Amino acid sequence: MSTNAAVARSALSPKPTYDVARVRSEFPILARQINGKPLVYLDSAASSQRPLTVLRAIELYETTMHANVHRGVHTLSQTATEAFENAREIVRRFLNARSAREIVFVRGTTEAINLVANSWGRSHVGPGDEILITYLEHHANIVPWQMLCAATGAQLRAAPVRPNGELDLEAFRELLSARTRLVAVAHVSNALGTILPVQEIVHLAHARGVPVLLDGAQAVPHQTVDVQAIDCDFYAFSGHKVYGPTGIGALYARESLLAAMPPWQGGGDMILSVGIESSTYNELPWRFEAGTPNISGAVGLGAALEYVESLGRTAIAAHEHTLLELATERLSALPRLKLIGTASAKAAVVSFVMDGVHPHDIGTILDSEGIAIRTGHHCAMPIMEAFGLAATARASFGCYNNAEDVDRLVEGLQKVRKLFG
Ligand code: PMP
Repeated sequence: MSTNAAVARSALSPKPTYDVARVRSEFPILARQINGKPLVYLDSAASSQRPLTVLRAIELYETTMHANVHRGVHTLSQTATEAFENAREIVRRFLNARSAREIVFVRGTTEAINLVANSWGRSHVGPGDEILITYLEHHANIVPWQMLCAATGAQLRAAPVRPNGELDLEAFRELLSARTRLVAVAHVSNALGTILPVQEIVHLAHARGVPVLLDGAQAVPHQTVDVQAIDCDFYAFSGHKVYGPTGIGALYARESLLAAMPPWQGGGDMILSVGIESSTYNELPWRFEAGTPNISGAVGLGAALEYVESLGRTAIAAHEHTLLELATERLSALPRLKLIGTASAKAAVVSFVMDGVHPHDIGTILDSEGIAIRTGHHCAMPIMEAFGLAATARASFGCYNNAEDVDRLVEGLQKVRKLFG
């Protein structure tokens, strides 16, 4: 759906009740059978599926608009540039950034965080400085900071988590010190679903003059994100977790910070002029986009965000919350099953373990029933270790899941219990 169509639909029509059957019909993959059973897709936190509108936007771009961007005077190059920059404007609007100059296209959350660590980090962090994260972080929000610390002599600190999976805000407050140069935390934990109190975290950090990076990979698909209201300094997310393509994502960076950051990759498109001795760099945000970008990916991401806007982020959040409550209640009632992560503020992620059954066996048995869940450490080994676990099973919900998916999950888990006694 085009921007105009989406805006017109939300402005003119009364808010429809959430029609999950219609939403499901827009995702062709959900019609698949897996191992002879209708697919139940409960792995959206790893990667969501894409609606037809996204697939068609990519097809339209590839079949009628493609050329390289920002380079040619010919019509197709200008069309491609317009499509690419229009996608940037959609991302700006989606995050409510002040300016499209604050939106840098990247491969995904991982690359966004590496960009900040390499560019901002190497010019602002030195020996004895500290970067403050939490135990909840995905490896993408740990390892780049470890690498920065190894290169600069800084230290990585991590705030602990309470037994229910909530951040220990008191401990966080104590770890925030005169040595802290940056706070980098998840908006929503992928392993446990905990929604972190980001507004309070930003408030505490800013009171000490410390900028805040938020890893929004798991927040953007599930709730409204307004970077001005949160007042964060960096915000990273991935297209493939919000019903868009893989290989594309965005970094929001407050313009005053981005303008002072050195480029981190050199090459075409990020320069204004190049001599053998030196070069002058391009304006924001292109200074941070060296080389030919993922143009069709950006177009697909724009279409995905418009799709989410057309469903309504509040409506998606309410629908998923109902599923979370249902799944939490039904799974809690199963014998010898333990939920891991029971924070009061949670996105639609249910992590659990079963007595006497390895999570991989749970995943394999459910797969034989056509049910896709994630098992393992979820690229969040420190939080698994904090809970004394090597792995959990995780069911995660998206805009297309329904109560029948929860029923099928429960039936599958009952079968697991029977097999393992
Ligand atoms: N952070 C969080 C919280 C995530 O869930 C993920 C993906 N599982 C990432 C970062 C990394 O995202 P990507 O692999 O798309 O770069």
